[in-house]
Amino acid sequence: MRRPLRSAATSVVAAVLLAGASYAAPARAVPAPEPAVPTTAPTSASSSAYGYSCRRVSGSAVDLSCVIGRSVDGRALVATRQGRAAAPRVLVVLGQMHGEEWPGPLTVDVLRTLRPAADAVIWSVRSMNPDGGAIGRRWNSHGVNLNSNFPDKFLRDSRSGPRALSEPESQAIARFLTLVQPDLVISLHGFSEAVDTTGGGRRAALARTFSGLSGIAPAHVVPCGGPCHGNLTDWYTATSRASGVAFTVEMPRSSRTVRPCGVPGHPRETPIRCTALAAAYLAGRLPA
Ligand SMILES: [Zn+2]
Repeated sequence: MRRPLRSAATSVVAAVLLAGASYAAPARAVPAPEPAVPTTAPTSASSSAYGYSCRRVSGSAVDLSCVIGRSVDGRALVATRQGRAAAPRVLVVLGQMHGEEWPGPLTVDVLRTLRPAADAVIWSVRSMNPDGGAIGRRWNSHGVNLNSNFPDKFLRDSRSGPRALSEPESQAIARFLTLVQPDLVISLHGFSEAVDTTGGGRRAALARTFSGLSGIAPAHVVPCGGPCHGNLTDWYTATSRASGVAFTVEMPRSSRTVRPCGVPGHPRETPIRCTALAAAYLAGRLPA
């Protein structure tokens, strides 16, 4: 595993904060509301976490909902929290970096109904690309592939954006992860049905464990057809101050078909439910 570099992570925070100023006023926006968190009854009480303005939520596993940024078209990127705020084990689950990949948001919907172990806290973002998600488009509204826009081996091309973290969505996610410093980040994609077990070390070990729990096959080859450039999971694994790691899960298209699941007590589930259950189960077993 590559060792984390505090200076790198700190500089990313500064870069994100500086870059964010250029996106203060998205012009062509009719923001759509964030889909409701299932089974929750929001209250009007406000709160904060990591400097974000949040609102308290009651009636479900989720207890806090925070706007962590805005898309090009002004849609909210919302992170919710479930579990004990000060718990030592921290998991972040991220959905829909590519707008046509619908299983991520549906998996997060299920995850948000589950209660993690007492010593774990789970943050989740239903959609990292709500503009693309609104119309089933892979890119954000600048035509950028957000998974090429992070500052790890960034390579400028027609879909990567003009520079690392040029996009408000990648800025928001990078800032959030840099502040929260999760032990594990799971980025949900579609549809090649594989857990990225490359990279070695704790990242590969946790990915293999997740593969067994979720019933989604391990992938032993680099998923980018060569070195990945500017992707989220490599960036977070390289820069986490907490020795945190991140891996990608490619969900299957048959995400609504019941099949064997590796989570104890759940022998058969849909891939969406099994993946959500696997995430909640693993959160309580992360190396503290
Ligand atoms: Zn994807």
